[in-house]
Amino acid sequence: MLDYHVHSNFSADCETPMDRTIKKAIEIGLSEICFTDHIDYDYPDESIVFEFNLLEYDDQIRQMQAKYGNRINIKKGIEIGVEPYLLDRYEALMRKNRFDFIICSMHTSDRKDLHSGKFFEDKTINEAYAKYYEELLFCTKNFDSFSVLGHLDLVKRYKQGSTRDFHELITEIFKVIIPMGKGIELNTSGFRYGLNTGMPSEDILRLYYSLGGEIITIGSDSHREDTLAYEFNTAYNLLQRVGFQYITSFEDNKPSFQRIASLIR
Ligand SMILES: [Zn+2]
Ligand SMILES: [Zn+2]
Repeated sequence: MLDYHVHSNFSADCETPMDRTIKKAIEIGLSEICFTDHIDYDYPDESIVFEFNLLEYDDQIRQMQAKYGNRINIKKGIEIGVEPYLLDRYEALMRKNRFDFIICSMHTSDRKDLHSGKFFEDKTINEAYAKYYEELLFCTKNFDSFSVLGHLDLVKRYKQGSTRDFHELITEIFKVIIPMGKGIELNTSGFRYGLNTGMPSEDILRLYYSLGGEIITIGSDSHREDTLAYEFNTAYNLLQRVGFQYITSFEDNKPSFQRIASLIR
């Protein structure tokens, strides 16, 4: 199994050192783990700063690879929180740094954060969802330094609504990213948060598949080692039911494909 969305104490909202997570990953038999710590420039909640020292991060990953590399593959990823007005800053970041894997997520929209609920305060649920996907569409049209889109229906974690009304906009997003050779992730933290589904939900996975999407990673979005690979068998089964035969791993932002059937336990 490969977990492609894992946080460490380089993320402002996580206290778990890489070492502890890697030991757990080896213990439960993961073949590969990709750290994807948070950079969210200009995060609207000023009590938290989602930035960290990238040289220290690089150094720490190398140390972990030297220490554990004979037992598990360790990849250097990142999760960036985009918004239309921040794309230039992320372009600059990507010009200066190399990552194996880049998750392009949207944790804020309309310059307000989803987590505190501020984003939803002045909008109906449909206005909120429309704004979210319009901004994400803009980002995919104007930014290409990423590997996959993260938790594509994160809006529903904070305010339950139907993403089905937004299949048209999401289709537009897929029609941009698929020819670019970019993918999406299936984030299993939705199961932990009581959504009873991963993110995105099955209807969106089906939409992606029907449009020819092939690149898909699976990540637990763990902030603690005990949620590594959470519900991965459920995720593999779900993907197979939709029609996917392969999941994706990345090195130096280049995809390679692993048969799902060989990963199920
Ligand atoms: Zn995220
Ligand atoms: Zn995350």
